[in-house]
Amino acid sequence: MQEKNKYRIFLSPPYQSGEELSYLKEVLDSNWLAPGGSHVRQFESKLKVITNRSHCVALNSGTAAIHLALKTLGVGAGDAVICQTFSFVATANPIAYLGAYPVFIDSESLTWNMDPELLEKAIIQLRKNNIHPKAIIYTHIYGIPAQVEQLVRISEEYHIPLVEDAAEALGSKIGTKSIGQFGKISILSFNGNKVVTTSGGGALLTDDEEVANRSLKLATQARNENEAFSHTEVGYNYRMSNLSAALGLAQLTKLNDWITQKRKIFEKYKNINAKTDLVDWIEDSKGIYSNRWLSVFTFKSKSKQEKAILNLLQNKIECRRVWKPLHQMGIYENQKSFLSGISSQLFEMGICLPCGVGLKDHEQEEIIHIVNR
Ligand SMILES: *Cc1c(COP(=O)(O)O)cnc(C)c1O
Repeated sequence: MQEKNKYRIFLSPPYQSGEELSYLKEVLDSNWLAPGGSHVRQFESKLKVITNRSHCVALNSGTAAIHLALKTLGVGAGDAVICQTFSFVATANPIAYLGAYPVFIDSESLTWNMDPELLEKAIIQLRKNNIHPKAIIYTHIYGIPAQVEQLVRISEEYHIPLVEDAAEALGSKIGTKSIGQFGKISILSFNGNKVVTTSGGGALLTDDEEVANRSLKLATQARNENEAFSHTEVGYNYRMSNLSAALGLAQLTKLNDWITQKRKIFEKYKNINAKTDLVDWIEDSKGIYSNRWLSVFTFKSKSKQEKAILNLLQNKIECRRVWKPLHQMGIYENQKSFLSGISSQLFEMGICLPCGVGLKDHEQEEIIHIVNR
């Protein structure tokens, strides 16, 4: 089946601000198609302002950013890294790239993110077995802010650095503070389905200059400042291109409008709750502002979830279950895990509904009607 005919309504397709062409033209006119370039630096500056960070390194994917984050924190072969199980697989894969192994932590029911109580229990238990995790990586799943205050406290108390996977949460806030500043290192993604896209890209954020310099070096083949083309360590080719950064700059001009629109779409799904079998979702608690990257709900039962997904897909409307917990995946199912059952339950009952910025009212009504049936 041809991809373009597969769906009439996509889950979260890219949207354009209208500024893309002029930003891209600037790059083409300057002929800065080589690595580096002023648009990359401008894009990094904007991201630093949004997230209130001292340093930003723009990269060619969010996965690369996680890889460099863990690497600069000293994660290596045989090390344990604590990881949220309810996340996209890219959160955990870089642990495997480094020859380390994940220890999975389940979610709590208030934010669907890493359960601080389970985290602390895990650290204590691991210590008893003389295992000292090198890092903790947590996610703000679907843009919903995690219980950051407690995670930070535990990270500090046990001296294990925190990596914040903010790939889905650009523009989400806790109070006045944007997500992206709640880790020793934080990462963003600009993949095609995220709130803002560079048609593939990511970024690493930190306040630690050494971490930033080290990440930049590793991202550019570990090039030597003093002697070009003479290498003393193995690096990667992870830097963002200037064209991608230009796209990102154009997209960022509309970040706030798009989040407003996504939140509106979410609210509308929520209000039809009375007539549907959608029974639960994560409400923004006091001071929390979720970017509603995806509109996610849970049903009363697995059979209702399955029926709704089938009906939507038959109508060529893209939707999906929520992320399959990583500890349930073949590649990771034998790893140590500290579980509450919440992520598995979400996987059985949850649904992600279309919520592209360009979703039309009548399209959303059709989706609601189909879910209602
Ligand atoms: C998208 C995503 C990533 C990876 O980002 P890419 O830019 O696609 O490599 C990592 N973690 C989470 C939670 C994501 O949703």
